[in-house]
Amino acid sequence: MRKPLVAGNWKMHGSRRFVTDHIKALKHRLSGDGVDVAIFPPFIYLDQVIRSLADKPDTAIAVGAQNVSHEREGAFTGEVAAAMLSDIGCRMVLVGHSERRTLYGESNGMVASKFATALTAGLTPVLCVGETLAEREAGSTFKVVEAQMAAVIDLLGHSRLGQGVIAYEPVWAIGTGMTATPEMAQDVHAAIRQQLGEEGETTRILYGGSVKAANAEALFNQPDIDGGLVGGASLDADEFTAICRKAVQP
Ligand code: PEP
Repeated sequence: MRKPLVAGNWKMHGSRRFVTDHIKALKHRLSGDGVDVAIFPPFIYLDQVIRSLADKPDTAIAVGAQNVSHEREGAFTGEVAAAMLSDIGCRMVLVGHSERRTLYGESNGMVASKFATALTAGLTPVLCVGETLAEREAGSTFKVVEAQMAAVIDLLGHSRLGQGVIAYEPVWAIGTGMTATPEMAQDVHAAIRQQLGEEGETTRILYGGSVKAANAEALFNQPDIDGGLVGGASLDADEFTAICRKAVQP
């Protein structure tokens, strides 16, 4: 039985004031029962978020970074090492978000290295995979996602990949208001689970792409969808909490 996970990616949004208000609201609203919750603020606010959550461990909100260096340490100006994230109390990290792949040129190989570095530092990496609109229209969705997964499998093997979380995020659905239908998402999730082999039994596969309280339930009801990676809607505490509740299995 895989416990659902709902993760909120704040992207490049927030302020000290926002962190104070938002975490207070989440702490009041989330009980932590039946669903794991994680939030991914910008680097600069990670410490504030972690400290703000420290007094209420029963809410069990994990904190993660949106990116990490593939290098362990050294002369890499502007980068943040996985060990530093662990050191301040982060538990998770996103790797290969489509904005990193498309805007910052991260290749499948680079993303696989980041996944490996994160595991070594004791973090749970969330591997983001997904096709562009052109790739979907060309009928290459499964091929693209398979190659993104294969880069990690080739480097680390199935069991190490299974120590992370997978997030299927069709690029055309991220921040656009367009969501994959539950059936479209389920088809890709099932293929991902198959590619995971035995690890597929326990590895959580999240769906991301314009998830909202209004569409979350239908997505989360699919057998291979174990929760969501939520961008824009995670900035609204009421909306994010409502999405988390939809993930709780009856
Ligand atoms: C994301 O940033 O991973 C995401 C899915 O964004 P949104 O929910 O805004 O589409």
